Amino acid sequence: MQIFPFCPNPHCVWHLKAPAHPWARPKGFYTTKAFGRIRRYQCPACHTTFSSQTFSLAYYVKRPLPLADILARLSSGESLRAMSRNLSVSLSLLSNRIERLARQALALHATCLAGRIGYDDICIDGFVSFDTSQYFPSEIPIALTAHSQFILDFSHASRKRSGSMTPSQKAKAGMLYRRTCLERGALSRSFRETLLQALTLQPPTLHHPFVLITDEKPDYQRILYALPAFRHQTETHRIVHWTVNSKLPRTLSNPLFASNYIDRELRKDLAHHHRQTVCFNRNVAQGMLRLSLYLCAHNYCKPFRIGVRKVQQPQSHAEAAGVPASMVSYFVENLTDGIRAFFSRSKLSVMMQRTWEKRWPTPGKTTPEYVPKYARA
Ligand SMILES: [Zn+2]
Repeated sequence: MQIFPFCPNPHCVWHLKAPAHPWARPKGFYTTKAFGRIRRYQCPACHTTFSSQTFSLAYYVKRPLPLADILARLSSGESLRAMSRNLSVSLSLLSNRIERLARQALALHATCLAGRIGYDDICIDGFVSFDTSQYFPSEIPIALTAHSQFILDFSHASRKRSGSMTPSQKAKAGMLYRRTCLERGALSRSFRETLLQALTLQPPTLHHPFVLITDEKPDYQRILYALPAFRHQTETHRIVHWTVNSKLPRTLSNPLFASNYIDRELRKDLAHHHRQTVCFNRNVAQGMLRLSLYLCAHNYCKPFRIGVRKVQQPQSHAEAAGVPASMVSYFVENLTDGIRAFFSRSKLSVMMQRTWEKRWPTPGKTTPEYVPKYARA
């Protein structure tokens, strides 16, 4: 008999922890075109029926696709439409698989974050791109470790276009901003929540003060100085703010190297963040899911350094940041072929939850995003 790790019903007593012995009762079969004859089971505690497909990344899928191939294409600058042409699949089907992969990556990243042992300085900087049109620039503050370039968390803020504009551009901007409701203080909110999450993941201790490295933007200082954790810091819980002039050469010796590095990687590797592109984000929620998939793959699947001596070199950014090698292998093995991550069982941060549930608003869009029922369980 097949042993299932937990009951898929989020309201069941066996959802978080199920008995170690085989507990699922066989209850008939059903047939699918994609996977053939599949056995159905029933939970004795809540009487919910399910099958091995319920725990699979291919749950409800009518056409299996190579998920590892999709991830490789997404992370190497291939646009969504190019991917859909090359794989001969529709755009919506492709988006569905990317969403599944992104949710899986977020849940696994949250698990690995909890098991991280290392300590490092934290760089936070806003990556600037745009959604729907150049009139709606976005700023994505990313918190990452300074010496290992390991992404901890990230947020998103939409803002108005700044800089010089022609009279016709000004007229168009005025018309767009009159009918679009943008969040007030979004930039401060996004930086604050990223900083708070970094502080939660790596609180200051006696031997390791929390060192935050940012550029000289006055807003960053204002937000940090207003935090209770900063105002009431003690000898044993020190928070240090290190500001770096953004005109300094973007070399390895620059304290903000990690932020500059990830900016460059995102610009190079993701089609919707290229400069002067027509592949920009049409939908913020889906763009954030793609971004989280890319950043998680960067943490766990990409080599830490190439072109330097490989002796005693950590294999991935996660390992360099203090995530045990066994957890990195766990991430890699389960990303495209493992037990499907459940929202109710994942320890996600506020921003990760928003990404998972597609709650990032798109400028000009008022209807909520569609999230399948299985993704909410
Ligand atoms: Zn149950």
